Amino acid sequence: MVAEKSADSQNEQPNDILISTQSVVKDALNRLGYPEEAYELMKEPVRMITVRIPVRMDDGNIKVFTGYRAQHNDAVGPTKGGVRFHPDVTEKEVRALSIWMTLKSGIVDLPYGGGKGGIVCDPREMSFRELEALSRGYVRALSQVVGPTKDIPAPDVFTNSQIMAWMMDEYSRIDEFNSPGFITGKPIVLGGSHGRESATAKGVTICIEEACKKRGIDIQGARVIVQGFGNAGSFLAKFMHDMGAKVIAISDAEGALHDPEGLDIDYLLDRRDSFGTVTNLFDDTISNEEMLELDTDILVPAAIENQITKDNAHEIKAEIVVEAANGPTTLEATEILTERDILIVPDVLASSGGVTVSYFEWVQNNQGFYWKEEEVQEKLREVLVKSFNNVYTTSQNRQIDMRLAAYMVGVRKMTEAARFRGWI
Ligand code: GLU
Repeated sequence: MVAEKSADSQNEQPNDILISTQSVVKDALNRLGYPEEAYELMKEPVRMITVRIPVRMDDGNIKVFTGYRAQHNDAVGPTKGGVRFHPDVTEKEVRALSIWMTLKSGIVDLPYGGGKGGIVCDPREMSFRELEALSRGYVRALSQVVGPTKDIPAPDVFTNSQIMAWMMDEYSRIDEFNSPGFITGKPIVLGGSHGRESATAKGVTICIEEACKKRGIDIQGARVIVQGFGNAGSFLAKFMHDMGAKVIAISDAEGALHDPEGLDIDYLLDRRDSFGTVTNLFDDTISNEEMLELDTDILVPAAIENQITKDNAHEIKAEIVVEAANGPTTLEATEILTERDILIVPDVLASSGGVTVSYFEWVQNNQGFYWKEEEVQEKLREVLVKSFNNVYTTSQNRQIDMRLAAYMVGVRKMTEAARFRGWI
């Protein structure tokens, strides 16, 4: 039997996202005037589950994978958030990500608390059949603590609508009912929502439009760099390109492409593989690090954590940084960029379009009544424009950066709900 990396073999990360998330939550709660007990409750998920999932691999051997599910807080409603399949998933990261989901739901005012899941695995090296067995095994291991009124998963890094379909099918078998509301991000034929697949990028686009208005930047002809060509990055590059912006650089895990005149996005989308890799087809590439420091108007990190740190924050040339990824900018870098008058639209706001349309999907599943694409788009825009301006105004009024402002807006509803319930 081959065992995947287990929880206790994981080391401290240099830019610890749980510790930095906790410090901003603490600051936000203090500024809102809540007592210390509020922070004691909010600093960790109320429930953290580790599961071991045996899967018979194609070579006949059993491999045991480690999976996690964090449920941050259910004072407002069921917990909600994606499941990522990635070799670098750690328990700590999943804890932090579940807090971020609480913040996202709070910012866009959804009736959810935050949840997050992950499996330590590399889907790029697994067959379709192995992935199906792993997805079903994860649901079986967690079936008692998840469900349409308890905790509702969704896609995240390297998971997609096919994986949601297998998970929904497994849950429905266990539940003995067809339970489309158990999970969001499903294929349309299984109760998925129009607009869900591109929702994260659409939300980012709306935030870019609003941020550009504040900074007097015309999107027509504006230079944009997109780091990451996965779900968020690829749809975003397309939307920006279609709006008349010049996407001058994109990247994936292998490297980056740069053309000051603007890249041919349609061609790149056509050539990318299902994990978002395309730069390996070209000889003339630059590194991800070099790309982040190029001259541009808008920079969108849409890949992974800790990309803008104290080491490169002084070299960033963008006027606006919009975080489509979770946690791409460290707190030290946030300070440096803010001092340099670069506007940062934080992850918990910029990437909240995904969970917003997930909520629409869940509502449609619960009602059994399905909306047209235009209706989804209209409602998403309404929610995002309102949320952006709420956070922006808070940051202006209190003279704080948009990250802290977003945390203040995001944590308030949960804390109030916990107070009314008598928990704090
Ligand atoms: N994984 C996405 C996120 O981090 C979406 C979560 C959801 O739709 O529930 O926001």
